[in-house]
Amino acid sequence: MFSLEGKVAIITGGGSGIGLATVKRFHEAGATVVVADITDESLLAEEIGGLYIKTDVSREEEVQFLLEKTIEIYGQIDILFNNAGIGIGLGMLADAQTEDYEQSFRVNTFGVMFGLKHGATLIKEGGVIVNTASAAGLQGVPTYGPYVASKHAVIGVSKTAALELSLRNIRVNCICPGTIDTPMVQNHAAPEQRAINNYITPLGRTGKPEEVAALVHFLCSDDASFITGQSIAIDGGVTSGT
Ligand code: NAD
Repeated sequence: MFSLEGKVAIITGGGSGIGLATVKRFHEAGATVVVADITDESLLAEEIGGLYIKTDVSREEEVQFLLEKTIEIYGQIDILFNNAGIGIGLGMLADAQTEDYEQSFRVNTFGVMFGLKHGATLIKEGGVIVNTASAAGLQGVPTYGPYVASKHAVIGVSKTAALELSLRNIRVNCICPGTIDTPMVQNHAAPEQRAINNYITPLGRTGKPEEVAALVHFLCSDDASFITGQSIAIDGGVTSGT
């Protein structure tokens, strides 16, 4: 396992699913982890450990506070995993409401943009940023229009950040998960939809949040020291035909 000893990592959306699996993995790798989520602390999984800072990533001042408070307490930020996201607005584009776009962009895109904006100056030189986009950031998906648009935007802004932040030797990459077995999918995707997802996934199954956490861990480690500006699919092959 790549050591993250001595590293201070912030994980947004760390209370559930991919974020929670990454929190656990980072603890095992020796990092000091700051968990940020919109959820009340009392609702968080017991295994979360570390410092929790309640944060709504769609609000710039809360993201700025998260980063500044981390520096105040731990003196530095080495890793920022902008992962919080919502999946809403299921329906054809003809039926999509303006609010579906606004909500998707506020959390999925603006949340990442605020992390990049404040991380640009507050993350330690030589640090790492990983942003959660989606396989839906690489291809169109019928009935997921607002979500797809918000995730494509995450990839665009991340590539720009990689170019700009290379001046401070900060690497910026996106992960693009396919269907991963988390509460987002368990609570919102109908069983028929999940069966279709498995069918269209070449590896024939849903991914596990721990598999995504392993990719995030690698990207944040020194073994990935020459990788920046990339959008890496972890989707059982779904986007291999694009
Ligand atoms: P999840 O619902 O299990 O976890 C998402 C977490 O984000 C929750 O703890 C939630 O409270 C938090 N959150 C939501 N809105 C927030 C806000 N405004 N501020 C702070 N925290 C907020 O879902 P997940 O599957 O683990 O999703 C994590 C990320 O992965 C999301 O960005 C999602 O779009 C992306 N993703 C998931 C899948 C999948 O199939 N599960 C596929 C592709 C991409």
